[in-house]
Amino acid sequence: MPWGEPRQARPIVCTRGILHAIDSMRRSVIAGVAALLWTAVSVAVHGQAGPERAVAREILRELIEIPTTADDGATPRAAQAMADRLVAAGFPRDDVRVLNLNPRVGSLVARFRGSEPNRPPILLMAHIDVVPALRADWSVDPWVLLERDGWFYGRGTTDNKAGAAMLVASFVRLKREGWRPRGDIIIALTGDEETTQDSIKWLLKEHRPLVSAGFALNTDSGGIILKNGKPSLFTVQASEKIYADYQLEVTDVGGHSSLARPDNPIYTLAAALQRIAGHQFPLNVTETARLFFERSALVETGQVAADMRAVSLSPPDASAAARLSTQPFYNARLRTTCVATRVDAGHANNALPQSARAVVNCRILPGEATAPVEAAVRRLAGDGVKVTVLYPPTASPPSPLPAPLLNTLERLAAAQWPGVPLAPVMEAGATDGMYTRLAGIPTYAPSALPEDPDDVRAHGRDERVGVEAFYQATEFWYRMIKTFGEDR
Ligand SMILES: [Zn+2]
Repeated sequence: MPWGEPRQARPIVCTRGILHAIDSMRRSVIAGVAALLWTAVSVAVHGQAGPERAVAREILRELIEIPTTADDGATPRAAQAMADRLVAAGFPRDDVRVLNLNPRVGSLVARFRGSEPNRPPILLMAHIDVVPALRADWSVDPWVLLERDGWFYGRGTTDNKAGAAMLVASFVRLKREGWRPRGDIIIALTGDEETTQDSIKWLLKEHRPLVSAGFALNTDSGGIILKNGKPSLFTVQASEKIYADYQLEVTDVGGHSSLARPDNPIYTLAAALQRIAGHQFPLNVTETARLFFERSALVETGQVAADMRAVSLSPPDASAAARLSTQPFYNARLRTTCVATRVDAGHANNALPQSARAVVNCRILPGEATAPVEAAVRRLAGDGVKVTVLYPPTASPPSPLPAPLLNTLERLAAAQWPGVPLAPVMEAGATDGMYTRLAGIPTYAPSALPEDPDDVRAHGRDERVGVEAFYQATEFWYRMIKTFGEDR
């Protein structure tokens, strides 16, 4: 299926029905062949020799075993450890910089010099800090890389030390092979993505020439979505939703609860929240969403697949969108959402409340203006409710999705995961990529690591990555760096 403009909606339903029938027959044949290929070719296509695997594993081990939570303050040490490896592999010391935002937050920026200095560089991203993990909460030691039953366990094995290890291992391998890119390729490993994301902002502001690039590839998002344990969709994250918090507050003089009145802050606030609950922001099928649904339809069946196709047409089918919107995961991809997340009201069981407060958390579609969302919250809150901005939205544009880029990624993914469609996705959370996009660097995240929607352990206990999956993703990044470095 070519990448490009949306197909026009066709009014003649029966034609579409026939096309869908042919399409689905073709797909089931493709799926059958793909399953056979998957088993037969998997070893051949992911071929990575023993020594390269050992290097990648050793880098991952070293990173996992340096605890890098915000409390530890050890990201400068982790950045230095990666810098030492790059220098040992032959990178000039001047091209490998450990940049400390402060003594407890460090980042690494390393440059692979190309043969054509005037070409725009490519920026490769990962973060080396992790969220806390308590030994008592885990069944294994989070700060030791443990290989067991085909898994690597340890804090950061998925988020995002695996990514950092894949980048450093690829640079080491490419350098040792005597390879050289055409334009410069830069690795940036940041030290506070999980908390303030100040490092990436600081690098973009204070060290711009070191990280300036034509586009960026981020290891910290996207991935291969597993369905029943098998790869079903290769996702490339190309945009992130915009986060904002609003506080709703109602106050009153209060009084004795024996003298009940029909109006009090809790009732006023409850009515405001009900209006927010009943409000649906307008359908907006972004370019990323359109391609996501178009490609996801290839791995879905029945009504869901039909609805996904219908919503990716131009104009999107409203009733298909309405059906998909009943599922929170799809709804989040089709529109801005706002939802009440906290309530705090009253001061005694036997007193009329003097105040009632709620937090409404909004996730705004990238590319949409943020002011109308705040205006909608204020309008829905109504008279007598004071609305304040608790966490202001930072607009971050979606990255464009040019066909040549998608074709290259699709070709690379198909070589290792044949029969698995590629789809651009929007992340509901936030990564450092939000700031590179804001700085004018289109950013794409094809982590190539498997994601089991029913077993997400990033930030949780017993975080792990499949041993084979880690090596396969490392191979993918090696090939991708080489491909883009040679300009496709
Ligand atoms: Zn992360």
